[in-house]
Amino acid sequence: MTSIDTLLTRDGEAESCTPELAMPTWTFDPAPGYGPGASMGDVIPVGSPRQGQLPEEYRSASAEELDQRIRAVKQRLGDRAVVLGHYYQRDEIVEHADFIGDSYQLANAALTKPDAEAIFFCGVHFMAETADILTRDDQAVILPNLAAGCSMADMADIDSVTECWEQLEELYGTETDERGRMPILPVTYMNCSAALKGFVGERGGIVCTSSNASTVLEWAFERGQRVLFFPDQHLGRNTAKRMGVPLERMPMWNPRLPLGGNSPQELLDAQVLLWHGFCSVHRRFTVEQIEKARAEYPGVRVLVHPECPMPVVDAADEIGSTDFIRRAVASATEPTTFAIGTEINLVNRLAAEFPQHRIFCLDPVICPCSTMYRIHPGYLAWVMEAFERGEVLNRITVEESVAEPARLALERMLAALPQG
Ligand code: SF4
Repeated sequence: MTSIDTLLTRDGEAESCTPELAMPTWTFDPAPGYGPGASMGDVIPVGSPRQGQLPEEYRSASAEELDQRIRAVKQRLGDRAVVLGHYYQRDEIVEHADFIGDSYQLANAALTKPDAEAIFFCGVHFMAETADILTRDDQAVILPNLAAGCSMADMADIDSVTECWEQLEELYGTETDERGRMPILPVTYMNCSAALKGFVGERGGIVCTSSNASTVLEWAFERGQRVLFFPDQHLGRNTAKRMGVPLERMPMWNPRLPLGGNSPQELLDAQVLLWHGFCSVHRRFTVEQIEKARAEYPGVRVLVHPECPMPVVDAADEIGSTDFIRRAVASATEPTTFAIGTEINLVNRLAAEFPQHRIFCLDPVICPCSTMYRIHPGYLAWVMEAFERGEVLNRITVEESVAEPARLALERMLAALPQG
């Protein structure tokens, strides 16, 4: 039984993990929208592909049959196809991946396969969009299940952010100060729609990942008197706090309230405005879980992701991206106990890969990224076999008018990072 199956069969406990996200595999096929947690605000944009019902032959195939079919079609396609698997993806998918990594590593991995006509992106919607922005027009980026979105990305949509921006411009004006800094600069976490990456690109802003957020914020503070950071409040708060920004200068913007629920003076005093967004997986970690781990395993090393709430990050020993957590475990030379605050599939894989260490997830009620989990092997087999027949299903395309400024915001991020 897989982790999410366990969750779904535990009566009474399921409510602890956003139950509407943790639906059985085929639930979203006939749904009129992309399903809860899918990107694009759960509304299918005009002209966008719609997830159809997966054909019965894939729905009823055994795990072994699907595994064999994926292996076979992948072999037949050879260099024409590349399969990318996110760290949080289920094992049955990851074992077919040519590359495993975080969203940005995977987008870059796609660039190392210039002969690939199809990039099967086993992650979530915003990641496939980023890959489409960075790859050539004649390469098709395919998301095996269109219902694989990101609930955090959905929390900031282009209309709410534009409305926020208009209110801020009215308050701050648009004149630069004596140091040439804009009154406010937008910074977006990679986990957002392409439309928002384009939004920041058009306004002199920049994209960040969880591994370079402080470098990117430094870049932004040189060019802006203040920063509007979206969609993840926790990454923004944890990073800015460690850079010395006082909490009282980090008001939160609630898109449902006038001025985001702040007074004009609070906004004038702000250094970082945090959007009201969060990751439903990482916000589950608590200080109590860390205290329990320390009581049970004296000497435990507690590693958490910066999408966790601030008290959890403050109570941990180390904080960093999924890649940082992986490297921290891989580089431990002595047998060590690690309590990890990130997605369960990654933690389980680390535990299997490094049996010399004791590795466990801080959260005893396992909670996978349930939107990513929607990429069942049946969908991967379906899109790969269709591609072999000449049918391109579930292609993710970003309009060039959006892709161009989004690329600019991504290029600014690369330019801001230490070279070499
Ligand atoms: S783990 Fe959280 S932020 Fe990452 S894709 Fe899943 S819901 Fe989105």
